[in-house]
Amino acid sequence: MRPPWIRAKFPSGKGFTEIREILQEYRLQTVCDAALCPNIGECYNQKTATFLILGGVCTRKCGYCAVTKGTAATLDEEEPYRVATAVRKMGLKYVVITSVTRDDITDGGAGIFAQTIQCVRDFVNDCKVEVLIPDFGGSVDALWTVLDARPDVLNHNIETVRRLYPIVRPGADYERSLQLLRIASEERLLMPTKSGIMLGLGEQWDEITEVLHDIKNTGCEIITLGQYLRPNKNALPAKRYYTPMEFERLQREGEKMGFRCVESGPLVRSSYHAKAQSESILEK
Ligand code: SF4
Ligand code: SF4
Repeated sequence: MRPPWIRAKFPSGKGFTEIREILQEYRLQTVCDAALCPNIGECYNQKTATFLILGGVCTRKCGYCAVTKGTAATLDEEEPYRVATAVRKMGLKYVVITSVTRDDITDGGAGIFAQTIQCVRDFVNDCKVEVLIPDFGGSVDALWTVLDARPDVLNHNIETVRRLYPIVRPGADYERSLQLLRIASEERLLMPTKSGIMLGLGEQWDEITEVLHDIKNTGCEIITLGQYLRPNKNALPAKRYYTPMEFERLQREGEKMGFRCVESGPLVRSSYHAKAQSESILEK
């Protein structure tokens, strides 16, 4: 049973309904809906959403993820325009774009990411774009396609500790993901890099410290830590619920390690308070 500090409010409100209607009108998906995020009511009402591009069907099978899995979906060349038009209609000033993993396409969808960044820039004045990218199978060319489009924040989640990768993220590779952050962080004067992990999948405390150090050593500046919540009965069970005090302890540990921004709490997700995080970095 979930502890009392894990409480998601039932989503409702004018902003929530408006965002849902615009998403339907433009046939777009968000990770907020697809991953059953507990913050959806709060975020939609604050006009924040994380768009899920590249078809909504993932070619990987991460054990914690509620996104639809399958061989592939058709690539929609119009998607960048529809995302940008929806962002304009929603009146967003900060948008997060993420995607499923598309191991079936040569560039992993990096070109569509770059076009989406460009379209949002062209269609919407003063809207910052954070991208939460997959590992592109380790392709440095694909990564550079996205970096060349100059997102305002480059995010790639490590998600869990090294030992649990084969169980939690089959198809991914711990070192490959660190290498992606390392390459992106070399561009940090142009854009900050960000990563995140989920807690509760069976990791030990010293393994959490190890993954935080590994991420910090890539040059990454923003880190998010949140509780894993099992999205459905096919997903891996949550092995442990961390208390708010433990999340506060990790907040302090992250700050001591030198991350410029640490967001740590039971309901923190990768894109939770993303606008505020990027602003805090730019102000420092
Ligand atoms: Fe969407 Fe992120 Fe907010 Fe969750 S935290 S509802 S994924 S924007
Ligand atoms: Fe989910 Fe894993 Fe696919 Fe990402 S790569 S959408 S976490 S199954």
